[in-house]
Amino acid sequence: MKKQILVLGGGLGGVQAAKELSKKIGNEEGITLANILVFEREEQNVFQPSLTWLMVGKRKEEQLYRETKNIEGGGIEVILGDIEKIDPDELTVTVKGEAYKGDYMIVSLGVQQAADEALSQAGHNFYTMEGASGFYKDLQAFEGGKIAITVPSLPFKSPVAPYEAAMLVEEYVREKGLRDKTEITIYTPEKEPMGFAGSDISDNVMKLMAERYVRYVTGYNLKDISSSEMIFEDHHGEQKKAAFDLLAYTPHHQCPKVVTDAGLVGESGWVEVNRETLETKYPKVFAIGDITRIKLNSGELLPKAGVFARHEAEVVAHNIAKEVYGKLPDKKFEGEGSYILDLGEDEAGRVSGDFYSSEVKMDNPGVIRHWEKILTEKSWFIKYF
Ligand SMILES: Cc1cc2nc3c(=O)[nH]c(=O)nc-3n(C[C@H](O)[C@H](O)[C@H](O)COP(=O)(O)OP(=O)(O)OC[C@H]3O[C@@H](n4cnc5c(N)ncnc54)[C@H](O)[C@@H]3O)c2cc1C
Repeated sequence: MKKQILVLGGGLGGVQAAKELSKKIGNEEGITLANILVFEREEQNVFQPSLTWLMVGKRKEEQLYRETKNIEGGGIEVILGDIEKIDPDELTVTVKGEAYKGDYMIVSLGVQQAADEALSQAGHNFYTMEGASGFYKDLQAFEGGKIAITVPSLPFKSPVAPYEAAMLVEEYVREKGLRDKTEITIYTPEKEPMGFAGSDISDNVMKLMAERYVRYVTGYNLKDISSSEMIFEDHHGEQKKAAFDLLAYTPHHQCPKVVTDAGLVGESGWVEVNRETLETKYPKVFAIGDITRIKLNSGELLPKAGVFARHEAEVVAHNIAKEVYGKLPDKKFEGEGSYILDLGEDEAGRVSGDFYSSEVKMDNPGVIRHWEKILTEKSWFIKYF
């Protein structure tokens, strides 16, 4: 009998899961072995990794959108609407009052951004289309002064996004002839950049920032903010003030309420999964991507990034397909991934490896990695990629 697979979320993880399922069991020689239902609230989806390019005018808003429904076909159907309820015991999801029952469920609902009025009045949340565009508008009018890129709280997805943003902004002000009048500073509660990838990688990222005279202030916890000044508490508990003329910030992240209400989250406030199979405490219910909390061998956490969401999706889809064919699931997620950090000047560095065991290395930056990043972006818009 045909199986029904519910994929919750049509972002990076959800779409990858649906496409992989479609390739394996969606449509074999014209016979559809499974219905793959993708539940998504947005009619158009944003390719988030390109938001840093939007911040500096390297992309326009309309270049970042994709029609959610364009993944349909090959057994995939998109149900548009807000997910109101998830019942992991019954394997059901409710949208617009209608309950859909599945044989399997893959939850990939990403992070929910928590509103912060003081921050939004002071600067731009570059993790949204509106914020990245707003920042670019102010950057175009900028004539020199202090630019701050602030991480107000942990965790935040895309662990290199603030660093990438700072280096792209540095390139922009330099090309505009404003570099000697501009100070660019990153303020973050982290101890070092990409600490989860090991000290060599952190040192490398710090070196890249130092080469561009991007200031990097760590161990700073944001306590208060006005339209021109931030107040932090440093790691000694002392108060520090920092003035700014233009501010970009990452939002506060939390697990979507509908996931919390479903009882899927653990004490950490995120979904704890078997890190090899991505199975939750409920049988046949899997969670992937930003909503999960996965520990590395080092005790650090696997970062929230699209590259991991997509690899996890592949593993889960493969294992579900095996079961549908009556075979044993045989694929494991081992923390593999490769993450590209765009540096401006058409150059990028790549951090890749097996993140579970911290066997991770960073290539020498170059133009090839920059093109790899563009290729990843373009592939997002191709229906059958
Ligand atoms: C500025 C920036 C730069 C980044 N750069 C990179 C990068 O270079 N490399 C990289 O690997 N990652 C990068 N990321 C991170 C990457 O985008 C995320 O880690 C990835 O999208 C996570 O995939 P996901 O499927 O878990 O969540 P998402 O892609 O966020 O998808 C979740 C989906 O669920 C939907 N949804 C949520 N709640 C509901 C509901 N109740 N009902 C219906 N639908 C719902 C949302 O609309 C969304 O489409 C970047 C992110 C940002 C913001």
